[in-house]
Amino acid sequence: MTSLNDLEFRDAFIKRHIGPDAKQQAAMLAAVNASSLDDLTQKIVPESILLAHPLTLENATPEPEALAYLRAIAEQNKAFKSYIGMGYHDTFVPSVILRNVFENPGWYTAYTPYQPEIAQGRLEALINYQQMIIDLTGMDLANASLLDEATAAAEAMAMAKRSVRKNKSTGFFVDHNVHPQTLDVLRTRAEYYGFEIISGDLTTLHEHDVFGALIQYPGTDGRIDDPEPYIQHLHSQDALAIVASDLMALCVLKSPGEMGADVVLGNSQRFGVPMGFGGPHAAFFATRECYKRAIPGRIIGVSKDSAGNQAYRMALQTREQHIRREKATSNICTAQVLLANMAGFYAVYHGPDGLKRIAQRIHRLTGILAEGLEAKGIRVVNSHFFDTLTIDPLHNVDLILERAGAHSVNFRRYQNDNLGISINETTTREDIEELFDVLLGEHDLNASVMDADLTHQNTTFIPENLERTQPYLTHPVFNSYHSETDMLRYLKKLENRDLALDHSMIALGSCTMKLNAATQMIPVSWEKFGRMHPFAPDNQTKGYRTLVDELQTMLKAITGFAAVSLQPNSGAQGEYAGLLAIRKYQEAMGEGDRDICLIPQSAHGTNPASAQMMGLQVLVVKTDVYGNVDQQDLQAKVDQAGDRLSCLMITYPSTHGVFEQGIKEICELIHQRGGQVYMDGANLNAQVGVTRPADIGADVSHMNLHKTFAIPHGGGGPGMGPIGVGAHLAPFLPNHTVAPIPGGNPLMGAVSATPYGSASILTISWMYIRLLGANGLRESTQVALLNANYLVTRLKDYYPILYSAENGLVAHECILDLRPMKAESGISEVDMAKRLMDYGFHAPTMSFPVPGTFMVEPTESESKVELDRFADAMIAIYHEVQQVITGHFPADNNPLVNAPHTQKDLIGDWQRPYSREQAAFPLAWIADNKFWPSVNRIDDVWGDRNLFCACPPTDSYSET
Ligand SMILES: *Cc1c(COP(=O)(O)O)cnc(C)c1O
Repeated sequence: MTSLNDLEFRDAFIKRHIGPDAKQQAAMLAAVNASSLDDLTQKIVPESILLAHPLTLENATPEPEALAYLRAIAEQNKAFKSYIGMGYHDTFVPSVILRNVFENPGWYTAYTPYQPEIAQGRLEALINYQQMIIDLTGMDLANASLLDEATAAAEAMAMAKRSVRKNKSTGFFVDHNVHPQTLDVLRTRAEYYGFEIISGDLTTLHEHDVFGALIQYPGTDGRIDDPEPYIQHLHSQDALAIVASDLMALCVLKSPGEMGADVVLGNSQRFGVPMGFGGPHAAFFATRECYKRAIPGRIIGVSKDSAGNQAYRMALQTREQHIRREKATSNICTAQVLLANMAGFYAVYHGPDGLKRIAQRIHRLTGILAEGLEAKGIRVVNSHFFDTLTIDPLHNVDLILERAGAHSVNFRRYQNDNLGISINETTTREDIEELFDVLLGEHDLNASVMDADLTHQNTTFIPENLERTQPYLTHPVFNSYHSETDMLRYLKKLENRDLALDHSMIALGSCTMKLNAATQMIPVSWEKFGRMHPFAPDNQTKGYRTLVDELQTMLKAITGFAAVSLQPNSGAQGEYAGLLAIRKYQEAMGEGDRDICLIPQSAHGTNPASAQMMGLQVLVVKTDVYGNVDQQDLQAKVDQAGDRLSCLMITYPSTHGVFEQGIKEICELIHQRGGQVYMDGANLNAQVGVTRPADIGADVSHMNLHKTFAIPHGGGGPGMGPIGVGAHLAPFLPNHTVAPIPGGNPLMGAVSATPYGSASILTISWMYIRLLGANGLRESTQVALLNANYLVTRLKDYYPILYSAENGLVAHECILDLRPMKAESGISEVDMAKRLMDYGFHAPTMSFPVPGTFMVEPTESESKVELDRFADAMIAIYHEVQQVITGHFPADNNPLVNAPHTQKDLIGDWQRPYSREQAAFPLAWIADNKFWPSVNRIDDVWGDRNLFCACPPTDSYSET
């Protein structure tokens, strides 16, 4: 009867997600000598690990149905007005930023700016963010974001220990007045660093011998104490003073930098980023010039390009984990770039006067609230405050909370039945009157009258010596774009300088830059997800709890694990949490002495860095000529470790792009010797629906949701790195003191500031899995394998494929060896990466895991047409290099070493041994969709020697 093919309708999204259509797939299968996707899969994936049955997930769900289902889940959340505070506040996301940045693939699909010539837009945005942090904190230098405030505090603690040479103490003091989630994460981290956390009232600081201390200003209870005497005391002990602070408060408070603080950190969420039940938001981290080489995370700096023009790029790249390995300062890789950009743009949009007005208004409303309560006999515990009051409602707390429920407002409740009330940017006078209703019942207070009184008396509640006098945000960028037209054009100008997935494929090996479908993004903007405070009461967060449960169930089905924790907010955080579970499990078994971690040579740099943070000693295992773990060396290292073997960290398929045949035997060997297997799941895109980490023998694995499960990279974050574990490790998953995880182990602490990390973007992976379903997920993996192998057939006659199986096939990525060509021509992998920009492409992963190579991962989302364009570009570059080898082009003046070419290069005199056309339009199809790099080749070395990580000084703008 029906003419509609229901199956086709239900699978429609699969065809939108997967790049090559049936015809293209047939052509590509022929090229790789496979009869079908299943045939190809069997040729690549070892038989012993092939999944025998489909994943126990539903099949694909149509887009409207998935959206409607998730909408119903969202509706289970109740978005009460939040006065909870604790580092999370409601905010107005300026619509111009919401629409043009947060919801704009030009911003959110970009990769980490490792190729700065095609990333000047987001690099400038990050410089703005750093400048904003520098100004408000009063410090010399800021990084481009960390994952959350609590982990930023943990990074600061580790940096303090590295930086104090003479001070031999292992004690770290934590002010009673820091947010409890910060203390929770500090305790977790301190244990395996061998630090002792001393938590107490600041006035007792001098009684302890410490290498550093964390002070919160203003305190978590709202109090504003002068930190300066404590900072001075710490310095007299050769200890570091770390201050956790609040950007909005710093708009009106004396900066910690002026008081001598060594590190200032906090959360930039309230600068126009939704609370999202815990994230994602950018944590900020600022320090003094003298610690610039010890700072964790990425820093953006100013350098110049080959034409002498100012240009931005990531500074001090030599410190990255890939080079320092287990000596790296931190395991931070993915951070929170998109959210840092939003916070920076919030400051650009409002400017210094606008921010000050917002801060003063918040302070004034808080003052009205305090005056009213005191007038009615409710004691405000803190006489000085910016936006947070702690009140002692005596015995009325239950009554008040009942009224609060009726008015849909949330307070913070302390154990002693005090209440915390934090006022935010969205609070109005009517809200204050509502708060009077809730807190007092019947009253005769009028907020407007009280406002007038306060104005008349010129009252503030900030100690006079702590009022801000230092100016901030004086750079032109914060004083130029205050109309929406100007702001819109500024955002567009920057966006145009960046190459993202909305322009062309980004074949970044190991990073899986696949489609981030618009349907998957839409729920992130929904108020019922965005306006949720991470510590809202459980009965208001049912929607999030359902989302968490369902996603955990899906991830368990995909990986085969018994339990999943959604707390780690990056892959590296997942590594940390997974190793923590292993160590806690081994301790519980009476094997706490196991402290050696084996890591193959080809591992990602975060692996050894995370192992080191967990107090593990790293032993490196060699690789054989096929790119596999060298079995003999593994055996030797296992023997060497003996009873001290804790675990093996192994990436599968390996970053060499091969499915190790002996993976099961490797896992068995480790288990026989009493060790555990940590599988780095960054390459899960080659496994989903085809095999499962738990079936292979892994005990724990992280899943980079921003790789395999479609969360966009955001220009370097956000991401999520949940871990799956076997049943024996489940009791050792992270918990949370403020918002305990149902069924969680009360003895386990937190690894992130909130129980489910960057919870709001879990919606993206939920949508991804539902839209593709069991059938679409498997097909995606198979096409990812097909695309990679098709590229191999196109490129192998030009570039040696460094590793492949004996049948010549690779997994979902492959390594092109550029070293032989470099030896012959002098043309380096960097020249080739920059030349790809002229062809409209972002370079693949460069020099990881093998120096002098490209690691290419096309993903399933790219069509054969796009793959052919990329292959054509790589082949054209091959021929250009040949022309250098034959002497047709001089070695120091050719399209490669001069790349990338800007529009400016083409005008005026042209005295190069190649034409303008060859410079900028080397292949026919480029003209149709030309991407212009906005600067020439950037000089990294000059930038690092002349380190400058803030907005360029005002006089450099003088011509404008
Ligand atoms: C991306 C990646 C990581 C680190 O993940 P982040 O989310 O960036 O912290 C670890 N291992 C491998 C193999 C990766 O590709």
